[in-house]
Amino acid sequence: VSTTTSMLSSLVAADRCDRCGAQAYVRVKLESGLDLLFCAHHARAYEPTLRAVAAAIQDESARLLQTAATASPDER
Ligand SMILES: [Zn+2]
Repeated sequence: VSTTTSMLSSLVAADRCDRCGAQAYVRVKLESGLDLLFCAHHARAYEPTLRAVAAAIQDESARLLQTAATASPDER
């Protein structure tokens, strides 16, 4: 199954930050074709570096604001 159009698909709960394992909200496509996933926290932390090396950045961190309004199933 080809996933070459993955840049167009939304990030889902199964997508995890490469740094801390939290749910990823930002996908960074490198010039090499490699994909990196970051949570909102790490995307912000690495933003200057990411902007320098990324071919494209898919930022869905705005969805955090939407999900924050509802009860988080991960928090008990
Ligand atoms: Zn993270």
